[in-house]
Amino acid sequence: MIQNEMKTMSHDDFSHMLNRIDNMIHEHIIPLEPLLLNQQWPELFTQLNQLRTKIKAQRLWAPNLPASIGGMDLNTKQLAQIAEVSGQSPLGHYCFGCQAPDAGNAELLHMYANDFIQSNFLLPLVDGQIRSCFAMTEPHTAGSNPTLLDTRAELVDGHWVINGRKWFTTAADGSNFTIVMAVTDPEAHRHQRASMIIVPLDNPGYRNLRNIPVMGHSGSGYFSHSEIEFTDCKVPANHLIGKRGHGFKMAQQRLGPGRIQHCMRWIGIAKRCFKLMCQHVQKRQITPTSTLADQAVIQSKIAESFAAMNASRALVMETAQIVDEQGFDAAKHHISMIKFECANMLQLVVDNALQSMGALGMTDDSIVAFFYREERAARIYDGPDEVHKISLAKSLLKSMESNH
Ligand SMILES: Cc1cc2nc3c(=O)[nH]c(=O)nc-3n(C[C@H](O)[C@H](O)[C@H](O)COP(=O)(O)OP(=O)(O)OC[C@H]3O[C@@H](n4cnc5c(N)ncnc54)[C@H](O)[C@@H]3O)c2cc1C
Repeated sequence: MIQNEMKTMSHDDFSHMLNRIDNMIHEHIIPLEPLLLNQQWPELFTQLNQLRTKIKAQRLWAPNLPASIGGMDLNTKQLAQIAEVSGQSPLGHYCFGCQAPDAGNAELLHMYANDFIQSNFLLPLVDGQIRSCFAMTEPHTAGSNPTLLDTRAELVDGHWVINGRKWFTTAADGSNFTIVMAVTDPEAHRHQRASMIIVPLDNPGYRNLRNIPVMGHSGSGYFSHSEIEFTDCKVPANHLIGKRGHGFKMAQQRLGPGRIQHCMRWIGIAKRCFKLMCQHVQKRQITPTSTLADQAVIQSKIAESFAAMNASRALVMETAQIVDEQGFDAAKHHISMIKFECANMLQLVVDNALQSMGALGMTDDSIVAFFYREERAARIYDGPDEVHKISLAKSLLKSMESNH
C-alpha cells in the first residue's frame, strides 16, 4: 500500500503540490480527453491506469483519505482545492484516486466497516486495484425520499438475502463490489429501516441489466451508470456495514464530504469552460474589425460567469473552513447551500461557454459539450436543488421562530 505522509504540510509545500497537480492535469491528463470524447475505451483505460501508477509513485494518490490507509491526511480546505484543480478534466479525479463513488465508499468503510470488510474490500479499493459503486436509488421509488426504498434484505441462516432493483448505480460496470442500501427492518421507524450491505458483483444473484443511455451516451466502465438487479442475492451476515438500521445515518455522513468535493470539482469545470469561452471570443472575428469579445452581450456573459464562480468558490471555502474548525454538523446549512448554488453556477457558466462558442460548442471538438451533457445531473444527484432548498429554508425558519 502507498503511504503518503503529508499530515503537517506548510502553506508553501501545499501550493507547490497544487501546482504539480495542475501541471499534470494540463500536460498529461487533458491530452487524453479525445479518447474519452471518441469513446476509445480500452485505449483510454490503459493510458489512465499508467498515469495512476505514476501519480501513486509521486505520492499524490487518494488525497481524500487518511495516511493510515494510504491517503494524504489533508484538511477539508486543502482537499477542496485539490478537488478544484483536478476537477478541470473529467479524468482528473479518477487519475488521482479520489473519484466518486469510490471516494465516498472508502471514507464510509474506513469509518464503519468491520475488520473483514476493511481487509477484503477497503484496502484493495483505496489502493486502486479494484473499483466500487453505491446502489441506493431505485427506478420505481422517488430517490428524493429514500425512506420509500423497497429493496429488501432478510437475514436467513447467517446470510443476507437481497431482492430489489436499483438504477443510476454509477460505475457499476466493471466494479468489484457495490454497497447496497436495503430495507432490513420494515417495521422500524422510517429512518431506521435500512442498512448498508456489501455485495461482491460476481455474486450469482446480481445482474447488471444495462448501462443507461444518458442523453444518447451509455458510456463504459467507470464512465457509466447502470440499472442493476438483485434476485435472492446471498451474502454472509458479516457483509453488513456498521450497525443494522443505520443506513440513512451513514448515507448522510457519506454525502457531507462528498458534496464539498463535488462543488469544488464543479468550480474546476466552470473555470475550464470560462477559459475556453474567453479564448474563443477573443479569436472569433465577428466583423472585419472586431471579435466576439468586443460585444457587450458577450462581455456580460463573461462578467456574470466570473462573478458566479467566485461567489460559489468563496461559499465553498467558507464551508470547508467551518468543517475544519467545527465539524460537519456545524456546516449543515452551508453544505445544503453550496450543493444547489454551485450546481446552478455550473449550469450557467457551461451554458454561457457553449452559447458563446456557437456550433463549435455543440461538438465533441471541445470538452464543453461533454460537460454540458454530463454535468446537468449536478442539480439532481446527491439531492436535487429543491430538496436542499426545502431543508435549508425549514431549518432557517425554525431557528428564527426559536429566536423570538
Ligand atoms: C448522473 C447521475 C448519477 C447518479 N449516481 C447515483 C449512484 O451512484 N447511486 C445512487 O444510488 N443514485 C445515483 N443517482 C440517483 C440520484 O441520487 C437520484 O436521481 C436523486 O436522488 C433524485 O431521485 P429521483 O431521480 O428518483 O427523482 P425524484 O425523487 O423522483 O424527484 C424528481 C424531481 O422532483 C423534484 N423534487 C423532488 N422532491 C421534491 C420535493 N420534496 N419538493 C419539490 N420538488 C421535489 C426535483 O426537481 C427532482 O429532480 C444518480 C443520478 C444521476 C442523474
